[in-house]
Amino acid sequence: MKLGYIGLGNMGGALARRLLRQHKMRVYDLKPENMAKLADKGGAASQNPRALAAECDMVMTCLPTSKEVHDAIFGLDGIAAGMKRGGIIADMTTGDPNATRAMAKELAAKGITLIDAPVSGGPHGADAGTIAIMVGAPDDVYAKMKPVFTVISPNIFHCGDVGTGQVMKLVNNVVTASIRTITFEAVTMGVKNGLSFKACAEVLAKSSGRSYTTEVTLPRIASGNAAASFTLGLMHKDVRLATELGVASGSPMLVAGLVREMYQTAINEHGADGDVNLMIRLFERQSKVKVAP
Ligand code: NAD
Repeated sequence: MKLGYIGLGNMGGALARRLLRQHKMRVYDLKPENMAKLADKGGAASQNPRALAAECDMVMTCLPTSKEVHDAIFGLDGIAAGMKRGGIIADMTTGDPNATRAMAKELAAKGITLIDAPVSGGPHGADAGTIAIMVGAPDDVYAKMKPVFTVISPNIFHCGDVGTGQVMKLVNNVVTASIRTITFEAVTMGVKNGLSFKACAEVLAKSSGRSYTTEVTLPRIASGNAAASFTLGLMHKDVRLATELGVASGSPMLVAGLVREMYQTAINEHGADGDVNLMIRLFERQSKVKVAP
């Protein structure tokens, strides 16, 4: 199977690097410097998504939102203009499941299959080969794609038909965004009341309040290396998409609504491109205490 990868930022770049261990691939990103980083690993730069798709049986995308995915597929020189009938697009973006389902329907009329396969575990999880891949696809397409995803990680989950991988990813990110927020708030209170940041991190990681935030994020912040390689803007997008699904389906998301607005507040202070862990600065300012190194 001839593979291609579009979207080589923090996440897509790490996933493509992993795949390049076993497959040579065509690659494309709006930023030439992101393509250049993969040149010596076997990533052959394409001129545009159309040219890439003309050379591939299967194209993966990892772009900021479903809007960029739509552009890359249906835009001038997009994938749909180059891909042959029978081709498969696997979208690894944390996207809007309803937008993905609509694009899949449109592509089916051209004989192209679109499935969703978002990931969780960050660029370091991709590098380590431990990242979770949540696939929304018909059974036969899942069976075809599984050997490719296995090169990235053994942690592959078939969630159901197209769109369900992205629904699952939104469930995950609403949980992780909320836990990160309440953990930062509680640790701030702890430090203001005499605990050290290090003690909070160590004890939480071994207690009932433990989570990805306590096991991975707090130790990183404690070591002075806070960057998560994930932006406030992308996290806000995920919580917003989850709450939109809640509204559309009549499933109230009261806590998620509050968390979404906290991320908006952090974006207004630090910008959408600010690292997600800058959220801790909000609590520091509100409590007038220095918490994180
Ligand atoms: P990023 O901003 O680092 O990378 C996005 C890349 O897409 C950039 O290189 C940009 O140049 C490129 N791009 C944008 N529009 C394009 C277009 N039309 N055609 C071609 N290239 C285009 O973002 P990221 O952190 O890599 O996130 C990508 C997706 O993965 C998002 O949906 C995000 O929510 C998800 N995700 C990220 C992480 C993480 O830890 N960074 C973890 C899990 C999921």
